[in-house]
Amino acid sequence: MRLLLIEDDDRIAGPLTEGLGRYGFTVDHVRTGAAGLAGTHGSPDLVLLDLGLPDMDGLDVCRNLRARSAVPIIMITARGEEADRIVGLELGADDYLAKPFGVRELVARIRAVTRRTSGALPFSAPAHQAVPEAPGPQLLGSLEINRRTRQVHLHGAEVPLTPREFDLLAFLADDPGTVHSRQQIMDTVWDPHFFGPTKTLDAHVAALRRKLGDPAWITTARGVGFRLTVPGDHMEAGAAG
Ligand code: CA
Repeated sequence: MRLLLIEDDDRIAGPLTEGLGRYGFTVDHVRTGAAGLAGTHGSPDLVLLDLGLPDMDGLDVCRNLRARSAVPIIMITARGEEADRIVGLELGADDYLAKPFGVRELVARIRAVTRRTSGALPFSAPAHQAVPEAPGPQLLGSLEINRRTRQVHLHGAEVPLTPREFDLLAFLADDPGTVHSRQQIMDTVWDPHFFGPTKTLDAHVAALRRKLGDPAWITTARGVGFRLTVPGDHMEAGAAG
């Protein structure tokens, strides 16, 4: 699978190219938006697009790319503003990753985006390793989690989650009722090499509770971590929901 990396910072592009290479990806690296737009003529299977580029705004690159190609785009951004990401997604990007992130996490996103978009791609079948097919949707009370389509429904209505919120919910739902430590969650949902404050975890838990409409879905085990519980249910007894 051939990736086009548009990133002006060699300190990021270097390790990223090397790391992705270990996963079997071929990376073409360019440092400007103009070179990136020219680079799409090489028909990459996926574009990794940094939003902070020296010659043009990454969002403009995204818009231009999308106007000429259905190639999947993952935005890479150092910007904290949610607005930029939302605009990017509206412009047709398929996903985004905020710096800092690890290669393992990026690879997971690449595979997820490729799975989501593969029916519509004008490219040959992706050569990445097969991901085991997930079983049908998981039902937890009124909550339905579909790992294949990465969709969540509550009382039949879709709950719009960010990719990370979905990963967090899916991880907790793998073993409802069990307390997962903060470190376990960071290692699995974020990255084993994630360095930085884990308050991002609390922010994601808060967002999930808000979106699920009931804080009881995710309970805090003080000083330890979090667990998923079906509100009103007694998961400790091993009820299947
Ligand atoms: Ca940059």
